[in-house]
Amino acid sequence: MANYKFIKVPDGERITKKDGGKLDTPDKPIVAFIEGDGTGPDIWRASKLVFDAAVKHCYGGKREIAWMEIFAGEKANQHCGSYLPDETLEAIEKFHVAIKGPLTTPVGGGFRSLNVTLRQKLDLFACVRPVRYFEGVPSPVRDPHKVDMVIFRENTEDVYAGFELQEGKDETAKLIKYLKSEYGWDIRPDSGIGIKPISIEGSKRLIRAAINHAIEHKRKSVTLVHKGNIMKFTEGAFRKWGYDLVKEEFSDVAVGWDDCGGNPGDKILVKDAIADIFLQQVLTRPDEFDVVATMNLNGDYMSDALAAQVGGIGIAPGANINYETGTSIFEATHGTAPKYANQDKVNPSSVILSGIMMFDHMGWNEVAEAVIGSMVKTFREKKVTYDLARLMDGAQLLKCSEFGKALVENL
Ligand code: NAP
Repeated sequence: MANYKFIKVPDGERITKKDGGKLDTPDKPIVAFIEGDGTGPDIWRASKLVFDAAVKHCYGGKREIAWMEIFAGEKANQHCGSYLPDETLEAIEKFHVAIKGPLTTPVGGGFRSLNVTLRQKLDLFACVRPVRYFEGVPSPVRDPHKVDMVIFRENTEDVYAGFELQEGKDETAKLIKYLKSEYGWDIRPDSGIGIKPISIEGSKRLIRAAINHAIEHKRKSVTLVHKGNIMKFTEGAFRKWGYDLVKEEFSDVAVGWDDCGGNPGDKILVKDAIADIFLQQVLTRPDEFDVVATMNLNGDYMSDALAAQVGGIGIAPGANINYETGTSIFEATHGTAPKYANQDKVNPSSVILSGIMMFDHMGWNEVAEAVIGSMVKTFREKKVTYDLARLMDGAQLLKCSEFGKALVENL
């Protein structure tokens, strides 16, 4: 099938892409995994146990995953002599679906961050973060059960593709002078300068993915979040291009707020919110938000703020997806928590919930539903790892591996 130096391709079949980016998943699909650094191996062991048991639970022996280890991070550096071997990227592109634990960002390794590099090299333009509440999980807000949103954060432009010039450098002074002479812009001479690009193509493909998700998952609304009142030609344009897209491609199933006065009938309502008001309203009336589409920096703040409402980063899942090529990486949203490495202690829920997204993306919805059901039951029984146990009364403290086993028992 493919010849790699370090990766061993297991017995199984490749997931392929149908038209429109949808995946064609065989009964024994090869799925790539990166174990992760620090607490990654503990988390991966518990997660794999749950995934394999759930597949067996749903399909008997008819379907199973052929797991294929690929390398990134410290393990890759030791094993392959590089933090991110080329064949890892090639394998993700070829096999379409990968899941990963957290990775250490190598200091002086020539990478801004391995996660950012993976997203950029594979053009994984949508960072998808579902945020929902599980009964029993400690939360700092009064009505956490009202939180049920999916955030689509643009992954390839805005500050991720931004350019910066440092204060005091010759090139910065040159640009400041040019901007004054050509545009009449007054910028203090002791400034640093940043440029953030937002394009029609980048905005529309992200908003298209968010609307398609809303259609497939029978969601009621898509909210475009922006600071268009201040940044008219970048964030304001994102909003405009979103409404244009609804008219151009989705008029049979979706309608913009201005075209229906907020009454969409049985169509999906596409509305918008200014980022600061949005962050206030997700606390005071979270049930008014459903699917959310936004640019890179806003999305960064929003995902973490929302995750905190429902139990924090230990249980927040994420995926990075290119809906046009079908290539996707499902991942822990927390870091490697190195102080807990090899203690069988941390919460594996972030990777397990990312796996639920992965099964959904592969079209194995039964598995996704079975694991969610088991998780609801396990949290309700107050069986949790240390991070949640310390915030709960009457919790049963479990190790990382024990939590995985509890999920299997509750399938
Ligand atoms: P971190 O690893 O996320 O850990 C910060 C704190 O978050 C931990 O001390 C722990 O809090 C809590 N936490 C993290 N994972 C948890 C889990 N699975 N279960 C329960 N609690 C969890 O952040 P960091 O210490 O800033 O970063 C460490 C390394 O991870 C760095 O090399 C960084 O570059 C990398 N990183 C990777 C990713 C990624 O791969 N997606 C993301 C962020 C950072 P308590 O101590 O309060 O229990």
